[in-house]
Amino acid sequence: MKQQNVLQGEYVDLVIVGGGMVGLMLAAALRHSGLHIVVIERAAYQPMMSMGLDCRVSAIVQGNVNILKSVGVWQYLQDKAGLMTSMRIWDGQEQGGIRFEAAEIGEDKLGILVENAALIQALQDTLKESENVELLCPESVTSVAWKRQGVEVSLESGRELNTPLIVGADGARSWLRQQADIDVFSRDYKQKGIVATVKPRFSHQNTACQRFLHTGPLALLPMKDDVCSIVWSASNERANDLLGLSDEDFLDELNLEVGAVFGGIVEVGKRAAFPLKAQLARHIVRPRLALIGDAAHSIHPLAGLGVNLGLRDAMVLAQEIVDAGKFEEGWGDMDVLTRYMKQRMPDVLMTMASMEALHRTFQVQLPAWIKLRGLGMKALGNAGIIKQMLMKNSTGIQIESNLQI
Ligand SMILES: Cc1cc2nc3c(=O)[nH]c(=O)nc-3n(C[C@H](O)[C@H](O)[C@H](O)COP(=O)(O)OP(=O)(O)OC[C@H]3O[C@@H](n4cnc5c(N)ncnc54)[C@H](O)[C@@H]3O)c2cc1C
Repeated sequence: MKQQNVLQGEYVDLVIVGGGMVGLMLAAALRHSGLHIVVIERAAYQPMMSMGLDCRVSAIVQGNVNILKSVGVWQYLQDKAGLMTSMRIWDGQEQGGIRFEAAEIGEDKLGILVENAALIQALQDTLKESENVELLCPESVTSVAWKRQGVEVSLESGRELNTPLIVGADGARSWLRQQADIDVFSRDYKQKGIVATVKPRFSHQNTACQRFLHTGPLALLPMKDDVCSIVWSASNERANDLLGLSDEDFLDELNLEVGAVFGGIVEVGKRAAFPLKAQLARHIVRPRLALIGDAAHSIHPLAGLGVNLGLRDAMVLAQEIVDAGKFEEGWGDMDVLTRYMKQRMPDVLMTMASMEALHRTFQVQLPAWIKLRGLGMKALGNAGIIKQMLMKNSTGIQIESNLQI
C-alpha cells in the first residue's frame, strides 16, 4: 500500500493538521490500516470548566455512536457519556411542541452527550494502541509546498516530511485552507452561543430540551449525573448582557425562558460564549489536500450537528484512502478525493440548509406565521411515519458504521 517516494524529507503516508475531535477520528479510523500517519496539533486541548465539567460539549447522534463503537473509541468514553433517550422541542410563542422518543425508531437512545475534553481524551487513548500513528503536540507546520508527486511539510521542530496527502482538520479558521488559497462562503449570525453546566431541581430523565426563542434557540442537554449543559444562542448584545449578570440574575433570566422544565434550574457554573457563524469552504478537496470537519464546513449549533458531520467526513475519507490503497490508486489523487467530496456534499449541504431554514422559521414574529408554525409542529408530532423518517435521518442510524479495511 506504500506510495513511491520521490521528494525530499521523511516519507509518511498521511499528514493530518489538527488533532481536534475530527482529525483524531480520522487517525483512529485508519489506525489498523498499516499507514504511517502523523497528526500535528498545535496546542493541548484546554477544557473550560463549569461545575467540574468541560462546558464545551457535543451531542453525538446514535449513528455516530455506532461509528465510535466500530472504531474502538467507545470503550474509553462510555462511562463519561450522558444518554439522550428523548428530546422535546417547543416554540417560544406557542404551547405544545414535539417529543421524540428513541423507542419510536426501535433504538435505546437517540444519542449521547459528552464533554469535548472527554471525547478528545478517548480518541487519544484509542490512538495510544497504535504504533503507526504519531500524535505530535505541541507542534506546528511552518510551511507546506504542494508538488506534483506529493506535499512537502516543514515542522516547527525542524522535522521535514513528505506525504501523498495532507488533510486539514484544523477547525473553522483553518491555516491549511488559507495556505491552499481556498476561500469560504460565510454567514455571520451576529449571535453568540452561551454555554455552561447547570443543575435542574429534578432529574432530567435523559431528555434533551430545546426551546426556540425569537432571539435564538436555548438547549438543555442531559449530561451524566443529572446535570445539564446549556447552549443558549442570543444576539451579540443580549449574550453580552447575559454574560455580565451575576449567577443569581442569570438563573432568573434562564428560568424565565426554561419555565417549569425539570422543576427549573437551581445552580449554574461558569459561563463561556462562542460567536456563531456558518461557513463552507469553496473547495473541500484539491490535488493532495482534503478538508474535513469545521475546516470544511461549520454550522449553527442549534441542532448540535457540527462535529457529527465532521466524524462522518473522517469515516468516508478513511474508507476512500483504504480503498485507494487496495486498488493501487494514489490516495492524494483527485479521482479519490473527488469521491470523498461527492459522498459528503449532499449530507453537508442538506444539514446546512436545514439549519438555516430552522433558524429563519423561528425568528419570524408575525402572529399568523407563529400560529402556522405551531400547527406545523403539532402536525409533525402526530405524523407517525414522517416523524420516524425524520428521526432516523437526523440520528444517522442508517449510515454504515464499519470501515472495510
Ligand atoms: C456553542 C457550540 C456548541 C456546539 N455543540 C455541538 C453539539 O452538540 N454537537 C455537535 O456535533 N457539534 C457541536 N458544535 C460544533 C463542534 O464543536 C464543532 O463542529 C467541532 O468542534 C469541530 O471539530 P474539528 O475537529 O473539525 O475542529 P476543532 O474542534 O476546531 O479542532 C481543530 C483543532 O485543530 C487545531 N489547530 C488549529 N490550527 C492549527 C494549526 N495551524 N496547526 C495545528 N493544529 C491546529 C486546534 O488546536 C484544534 O485542536 C458546537 C459548537 C459551538 C460553538
